[in-house]
Amino acid sequence: MVEVLSGPTGRGSYSGALLEVENLQVEFHTRQGVAKAVNGVTYSVNPGETLAVLGESGSGKSVTAQTIMGILDMPPGRVAGGAIRFRGVDILKLPEEQRRRIRGEGISMVFQDALSALNPVFPVGWQIAEMFRIHRGSSRSDAKKKAVELMDRVRIPGARDRVNDFPHQFSGGMRQRIMIAMAIALDPEILIADEPTTALDVTVQAQIMGLLADLQRDSNMGLILITHDLGVVADVADKIAVMYGGRIVETAPVHDLYRNPAHPYTKGLLESIPRVDLKGQELYAIKGMPPNLLEMPSGCAFHPRCPYRREDCATAVPPLYPISGTRGSACHYWREVVDGSR
Ligand code: SF4
Repeated sequence: MVEVLSGPTGRGSYSGALLEVENLQVEFHTRQGVAKAVNGVTYSVNPGETLAVLGESGSGKSVTAQTIMGILDMPPGRVAGGAIRFRGVDILKLPEEQRRRIRGEGISMVFQDALSALNPVFPVGWQIAEMFRIHRGSSRSDAKKKAVELMDRVRIPGARDRVNDFPHQFSGGMRQRIMIAMAIALDPEILIADEPTTALDVTVQAQIMGLLADLQRDSNMGLILITHDLGVVADVADKIAVMYGGRIVETAPVHDLYRNPAHPYTKGLLESIPRVDLKGQELYAIKGMPPNLLEMPSGCAFHPRCPYRREDCATAVPPLYPISGTRGSACHYWREVVDGSR
């Protein structure tokens, strides 16, 4: 705990994983019942490492991120169990004032929708400068100078001339760069990017992913990339955690997962990626809908949609079976999926 509290960024020598989420459980209490949005999620991120967290809407990937950041609405949300350790300290146990210090300086986040995350009535430079005024006590002129430097760093052309422009005067891609500038302003050790390219066209998506990778390389940040699109993370992630129905169903180094998925859901996601060499063929789609968190299917939550399912899949919840090294699959029949024997 001393390390986190000792300085403004909580930095110091620490040899363990920078961020460890362990058996995290988050539920929402609604009139219809209790929805287990996150059900035993475990993952870790080291300095300079990129973890991609992949899944459909409602899989629990964003709720996990919001819980890490301490920005989940509680109630209706509630952390029902588990730990989130930053530099070895369980931040779920820290008082709000200490968590606020970690937000921005230790762990920061880029949100999906830059237009609604930015305040429309203030110039972008003012909004970036605010980070330095509030957290570092910088003077107005100094904070503005740093804002221009950051806009340069995220490659906004003519940053000095555009510092007084408003959010609506920027394109979607440029607004996302401004969000990234705000997120890295305090030099965080972990950056969480929640669907940072969803609203952007493909060329701009690639530029933003390239920018995040460059920023990470420069500062050795740990990066958590949350996405529903396996196509955008292949070149930037080191490892992937695939989520379904609030659980991690497969975890693997990125190339292993792409080369040979070990869970039918991952396999389905990979087969759903459009391929130019299969022009004219019908695009594969995983049948059925994501589960209703208030009425989770029994046994393996994926069984109503799974082409590999057998009788026992509807009754026995699969644990995350270790495969090799850091690989794991929550499928009773992962060997058949890997072998392609069915
Ligand atoms: Fe499919 Fe059964 Fe594996 Fe679940 S446990 S993914 S239903 S084969």
